[in-house]
Amino acid sequence: MAERSWSLGGALRGLFTTPVVDDEMWDDLEAALIGADFGPDLTDEILDHLRSEVDRLRITDPADVKRLLRETIEERLAAHDPTLRLSERPAVVLVVGVNGVGKTTTIGKFAKFLTGYQRSVVVGAADTFRAAAVDQLATWAERAGAGVVRPQQQGQDPASVAYQTVERAIADGTDIAIIDTAGRLQTKAGLMDELAKVRRVVEKLAPIAEVLLVLDGTTGQNGVAQAQAFIEHAGVTGLVITKLDGSAKGGFVLRVQQQTGIPIKLIGQGEGIGDLTGFTPHVFAQSLVP
Ligand code: GDP
Repeated sequence: MAERSWSLGGALRGLFTTPVVDDEMWDDLEAALIGADFGPDLTDEILDHLRSEVDRLRITDPADVKRLLRETIEERLAAHDPTLRLSERPAVVLVVGVNGVGKTTTIGKFAKFLTGYQRSVVVGAADTFRAAAVDQLATWAERAGAGVVRPQQQGQDPASVAYQTVERAIADGTDIAIIDTAGRLQTKAGLMDELAKVRRVVEKLAPIAEVLLVLDGTTGQNGVAQAQAFIEHAGVTGLVITKLDGSAKGGFVLRVQQQTGIPIKLIGQGEGIGDLTGFTPHVFAQSLVP
């Protein structure tokens, strides 16, 4: 996958300017980690680790602490495998998440990303209650050079649209079927039942390769709390963090991966069709601690 550096607003830029490792440096670092949305627990954990390494290695230069911080972040990010499993044909990808997080846009960008690698894609609009979302998704799919399966009428059973999408992928020999799903927060139990039915029906035709949960990187913990039902019940295999363009909250990525134990697989960093990248811990750590 394309390796591109992230502009995380340099949340941790301007640190480590003191000539020696002193209390001021540790205080500034703590404030910066909290500010970058690492959260209090992870901030404490990282600081404890750095302090003990500084003692153990007798580090006196703040530049070395900075390097250690970058390595620590990278190691933690790399603890989870970011590889997308798309080798089956068709590889069925369910995309789930609360409305407004950037799900439709992400599917469009993801379809484009895949067609750019010469993989054929069909997109299924199984969020059948939002007519505008269906149109938006179809427009994105067309721009991406992907096929699209739309509901025949508003409110059609989402599972039947998902089924038709996979059926068409099989008939056409399409590499990847991406299925959009509903994200209405108000009806959590109904939504999880609906999703379970989509899974059941799709699995009659093909195994589900990935369930990607889209999270808005600017909403932090609140966004995770809202998506909790998906995390608990949807069999999520990977996270997509959106809206990280220009965000100073890049620590959220590490925090959410550690907290949920689910790997980050894609990062959205803009509203354009090319603004989605794979997740590379090394590049991300470099961007976070420039
Ligand atoms: P959905 O309701 O989850 O399907 O959300 P949409 O895909 O319609 O996106 C909601 C809004 O977020 C739209 O205005 C998108 O342009 C915007 N958006 C989505 N992804 C990104 C991103 O990575 N960066 C930025 N800046 N905006 C995004």
